Amino acid sequence: MTSAPVTVTFLGGLGEIGRNCAAIGVEGRIMLLDCGLMFPDADMLGIDLVLPDFTWLREHGDRIEGCIVTHGHEDHMGGLSFLLRDLSFPIIGSALTLGLARNRIEEAGLLDRTELVVVGDNERRRFGPFDCEFIPVTHSVPHGFATAFHTPQGTILHTGDFKLDLTPVDGRLTDLSVMGAIAQNEGVRLLLSDSTNADQHGHSRSETSVGKVLHELFNAHAGRRIITACFASHIHRIQQIADAAISFDRVVATLGMSMRKNVRLAREMGLLRIPDSHLRDIEDVEDLAPGKVCVISTGSQGETMSALTLMAANESRWLKLTPDDTVILSSHPIPGNEMNVSKVIDGLVRIGVEVVHSGLEDVHATGHAKQEELKTILSITRPEWFTPVHGEYRHLVSHARLAEQMGVAADHVLVCEDGDALVLDDDGVRKGPSVPAGYLYVDGSGVGDVGHGVLRDRRVLAEEGVVVVIVTVDVKTGAIITGPEIITRGWVHASEAEGLLDECRHEVVQALKEACAGKSTHDIESLQKVVRRATGRFVNDRTKRRPMIVPVVMEA
Ligand SMILES: [Zn+2]
Ligand SMILES: [Zn+2]
Repeated sequence: MTSAPVTVTFLGGLGEIGRNCAAIGVEGRIMLLDCGLMFPDADMLGIDLVLPDFTWLREHGDRIEGCIVTHGHEDHMGGLSFLLRDLSFPIIGSALTLGLARNRIEEAGLLDRTELVVVGDNERRRFGPFDCEFIPVTHSVPHGFATAFHTPQGTILHTGDFKLDLTPVDGRLTDLSVMGAIAQNEGVRLLLSDSTNADQHGHSRSETSVGKVLHELFNAHAGRRIITACFASHIHRIQQIADAAISFDRVVATLGMSMRKNVRLAREMGLLRIPDSHLRDIEDVEDLAPGKVCVISTGSQGETMSALTLMAANESRWLKLTPDDTVILSSHPIPGNEMNVSKVIDGLVRIGVEVVHSGLEDVHATGHAKQEELKTILSITRPEWFTPVHGEYRHLVSHARLAEQMGVAADHVLVCEDGDALVLDDDGVRKGPSVPAGYLYVDGSGVGDVGHGVLRDRRVLAEEGVVVVIVTVDVKTGAIITGPEIITRGWVHASEAEGLLDECRHEVVQALKEACAGKSTHDIESLQKVVRRATGRFVNDRTKRRPMIVPVVMEA
């Protein structure tokens, strides 16, 4: 008897850190697995966010059964508030994950386009043809899941973001026994596993080890005001900061909107214990003795306009930092943010603040499994086929090598990239036809209207500037009626370069005269080309620069 094929389509997160998104296909239906966003690279000028390419999902919108969100990080769920503009489907996840996801969707006014379906630890549940099992994992946000899809083509196990923390803050362990039982009983046909730290040797540190370091720091900095910064979704880190503060009889105040919202949400859900007696509003802490205060702030990634960045620039309306303050950055910059973070540290040091960061003390632990943990997962699940997910290309390749070391047959290790699709059938697992998976840029309120062309223009404008040449021509005679007028930004400073601009005008006049000589009609388009070429040649000859040339030829 043969079984129907099952597909796994990768829409994002394979070949980059962020915009994680995959789609499992069973019996013609689609279950999305995460729908995240990515923060732009420095060369994506003016871009706010980058999303997975939604083309393929839009084409198959009526087949989407739902979206499982593995955990509450933006790179796994931040795309939903955009995809829900076009499509409507339920979102499935742990109570905390959905609580965190809800904020964004509500802000976008799209709550009525979805249903939030809470699933619990180790729950096994059917959604249409999808038989899903939700397995607890430890990570840098509580209540994350690995997901087992029990399909007609065997079990697909997706780890989600995870680490193997044996002493997590909340005692909720990655459930290796369930993964082992699946491997033992039915076998794991295909393992999809987090590769973020696949090129890091050893084992990640336990989150609780950070608590001990924080405690020592609070002891060493007694009497000084302490400001800490960490991810607003890192509830366990917030807990440990609060615990250290309270044990030294400090009150805790949050700073930054997402920190305030998440602390409120996690306290309501019973996932964060800070007694009312030790919580203050940020506006009330300026009057308290410095040694009695601990502020927990956003901005650990040096994000512009974030609370910490504003404090470092002396522009915070809540806190004015002084040499009597200590700032603890309980974080590590994610790739691309290093420069912003070092600028923030520089600003703080300039004020005279004492700064503690992960380069000086062990005030951060990664949320992602390193090589020894990845090997443990491979040895427990003993997958027949393996595809590394979540990571840049080098991370995926490192992880693929680990899998081979751990005994997965080399031809059963499939390194995929965004847009690749795997087909599982009775003969094995192979790559099927690929789907569109380019970058979908968000800029302001626009999604997808800024593409490669606009970005190329922005790069030229940013690096070389622009020269606009305006000239009015009589199309019958070819005579210049007004102009040429030359306006530039970013090429030369006009008021200091009058001579150069005069020469440029002269070049344009000459070129137009030559082009029009002996002709009876003059079409605007070819005159525009003449102006562009003459200006471009002059600018390049005289200054060796290549600004954008915009010729504006009007007919009189
Ligand atoms: Zn992630
Ligand atoms: Zn994550």
